[in-house]
Amino acid sequence: MKAAVCEAFGKPLVLKEVPEPTVGPDEVLIRMKGCGVCHSDLHLVDGDWKDWGTPLPIIPGHEVTGVVEKAGDQVTTLKPGDPVGVPWMQYACGQCPACRSGAEMLCAAQKSTGVTVHGGYAERVKAPAAFTHRIPDGLDLIDAAPLLCAGITVFSPLRHAGNLAGKTVAVAGIGGLGHLGIRMAAAMGAHVVAVTRGEDKKALAHELGAHEVIDSEKEKAGNQLARMGGAFLILLTGISARLFEDCIEGLGPNGTLVVLAAIADPAKVIPTALLFGQKKIAGSIIGTRDDMDAMLAFAADHGIAPIVERHPLGTVNDVLDRMRQGKIRLRAVLTP
Ligand SMILES: [Zn+2]
Ligand SMILES: [Zn+2]
Repeated sequence: MKAAVCEAFGKPLVLKEVPEPTVGPDEVLIRMKGCGVCHSDLHLVDGDWKDWGTPLPIIPGHEVTGVVEKAGDQVTTLKPGDPVGVPWMQYACGQCPACRSGAEMLCAAQKSTGVTVHGGYAERVKAPAAFTHRIPDGLDLIDAAPLLCAGITVFSPLRHAGNLAGKTVAVAGIGGLGHLGIRMAAAMGAHVVAVTRGEDKKALAHELGAHEVIDSEKEKAGNQLARMGGAFLILLTGISARLFEDCIEGLGPNGTLVVLAAIADPAKVIPTALLFGQKKIAGSIIGTRDDMDAMLAFAADHGIAPIVERHPLGTVNDVLDRMRQGKIRLRAVLTP
């Protein structure tokens, strides 16, 4: 089968023929239909995370959708022909304190698709049936691919924030994550404020369902949010330490700023800013399998499909280059 393989960090992926994966008794073989290109893939390929112990060569890609082609003997939940998705989390031990507390996405023994085991930049991918998710009817199998990482990343903190009806939710950054965050928060009944830079994405934010749009270039986002009464929840999807600092001021009483982007630069926080108003800063990483199934059902029920640009697998290096230059508007999806 054809695959795009990372053979060395910091080098272009190598397009080549590789053997098809052999499925174990509890695994399924999936014919890839779409694989989203996440910013994490860029970090992986560029070697930013080389200390994570990624075995080389590796086939990247953790936003995979496709059709089950073969199911192992012990698989009872899926059968050939089923539309499915394979996310970042491909194994959690079920026994460690994190798993036992219900936070399986924090399992130290976790296997990650496209990071520690082969992912979806290939014509076929295998995964344990227990960590493979059925894609509900009504979602386009190719366009749905980014839901498997970008979608769950924004849905999980929204879901766990409780009833958001009428509450102000700000989504800072309108990219692969942010555009889904706006749509999901709006569908949950929140008063959605999109935070973006420049005029470019303003119209898009309104189309996606944002009730108000803040231009962080004109004035600090936090000041503008504070004038609106402050946000109950802010999803920070933009990779900017400055935006992180700005957002804290925009939190309302008991408000929470949730960091969803891998911001590696230092940022300044004045602790007093958290004290008055009992504000919180939190991180959130993907979600549990239950969050994933809930998100997929929610997306199907509310007609929330990622806005994607489709590119053939063979052009993956160009796609990654365009992502490095910030030229992918929202999300790219590779097709076989
Ligand atoms: Zn991702
Ligand atoms: Zn565990």
